[in-house]
Amino acid sequence: MVAVSKTKPVSDIMEAYQAGHRIFGENKIQEMTEKSEQMPKDIQWHMIGHVQTNKVKFMAPFVALVHGVDSLKLLQEIDKQALKNDRVIDCLLQIHIAEEETKFGLNENELKDLLCSDVYKSLNNIKVKGLMGMATFTDNQSQIKKEFDFLKSVYENNKVENSFEILSMGMSGDYTIAIECGSNMVRIGSSIFGNRNYN
Ligand SMILES: *Cc1c(COP(=O)(O)O)cnc(C)c1O
Repeated sequence: MVAVSKTKPVSDIMEAYQAGHRIFGENKIQEMTEKSEQMPKDIQWHMIGHVQTNKVKFMAPFVALVHGVDSLKLLQEIDKQALKNDRVIDCLLQIHIAEEETKFGLNENELKDLLCSDVYKSLNNIKVKGLMGMATFTDNQSQIKKEFDFLKSVYENNKVENSFEILSMGMSGDYTIAIECGSNMVRIGSSIFGNRNYN
């Protein structure tokens, strides 16, 4: 489980840390970097938000897993910055499963093209560990289930050939459905830390 601590102060994260949790998710690189500097070094920081190419360099020294990778160009930049830091950075490819246009991600054909490309095969400092997706924000449980079932099928279709291990799906509102559909990594924010204030 990734405890999603975006917008929450270091004091809240420390409370979860003291209780034994070590995996935290943030959606802004600057915020994650500032928090990581103030917190114990055995925390694994996951970047769960959309990543801007020009900011990859700030998280490259320490990020444990980048969930929302949705282009070869971004993977190339992560690879480049990982190399500079003498690391291999684990990534997940984000698949578009929601109805909303605004949610980022690849479709199944784009995923196939990326995984088959020579450029992708030449990247030695990233490791794609699996897939991530976000369902439509809706109360319609069967719609959510349909989207998670779809993501699970894309994961299964590509798992063996690409040695995938991680299927990141499910948030506070839909993680029980996600787990039923085969998720093995959930990203939980408000159920742990309470509602967020965006101001
Ligand atoms: C904010 C966020 C979450 C956590 O959302 P909650 O509903 O608070 O659990 C999970 N995944 C992503 C990508 C997010 O941006």
